[in-house]
Amino acid sequence: MSTRSIELIAAPPAPHFVGDGFRVHNFIPGGFRMDRERMSPFLMLDYNSRFYFPPSETPRGVGVHPHRGFETVTIAYKGRVAHHDSAGNSGVIGEGDVQWMTAASGILHKEFHEEAFSRAGGDFQMVQLWVNLPAKDKMSPPQYQGITHEDITKHALPGGVVEVIAGQYRDTPGAASTFTPVHLYNVRLKKGAKAAFDFPAHFNTALLVVEGSLRINGTETAPTDHFALFDNDGETFEVEALEDALALILSGEPIDEPIAAHGPFVMNTRAEIQEAFEDFYAGKFGVLEE
Ligand code: MN
Repeated sequence: MSTRSIELIAAPPAPHFVGDGFRVHNFIPGGFRMDRERMSPFLMLDYNSRFYFPPSETPRGVGVHPHRGFETVTIAYKGRVAHHDSAGNSGVIGEGDVQWMTAASGILHKEFHEEAFSRAGGDFQMVQLWVNLPAKDKMSPPQYQGITHEDITKHALPGGVVEVIAGQYRDTPGAASTFTPVHLYNVRLKKGAKAAFDFPAHFNTALLVVEGSLRINGTETAPTDHFALFDNDGETFEVEALEDALALILSGEPIDEPIAAHGPFVMNTRAEIQEAFEDFYAGKFGVLEE
């Protein structure tokens, strides 16, 4: 196996607000030479770096909106977020928890700071990742996987742990079920600890440094809130914690199909996007109270 080289290490782009509750840096597709296919099957990665929200009696967030054709995955690092959708699923996730929502044929949902968190205020830090679905699964029924930190399989390492959210690490399988091969880990390392990862070379692969800083492949340094994109020229890479660190690692097999995306809908053709709008306006995504 050969080493996967680093294509770039990106500083967080200027943040913007999604609704009034998520102050995010967009890393995928982002502004750095990345088109929609570059990180397939990952369509979007919005990162709310650690940000203090003052107390609010009215929870901040994003009101009712639709999705079709993909999955939204929310990974909580700080703070608590509540989700409700038109398929009848709801849940609250907090530190270390993951919410894996398969919109597929279509849902309405809303995402707000959980009420008690909102009232108290506090640090908020989350990732929202959009994972594409292959054409054959885009119109399958919606699903919801609420995955607590306790449910997430842990693979112990010297000086650290790989929390396997999806896919597998070594012989440790992940907690979430996925439609295509996707590996998603939270990796926690004490200062000086190392971890190695290998994925097939054609799997699109990146990492986000959530806490601390990492040396990658013994050469480049990725500080807090930076995003490292890997080339598809090898299988393995290694990280070393320069201080206690937490990183999100993502790798997935590209879905080699056309992408037609518009706002909250990601399909294969413009006609399917048009159909999504028509179905949405015809009320076919169900009902959800504001
Ligand atoms: Mn959403």
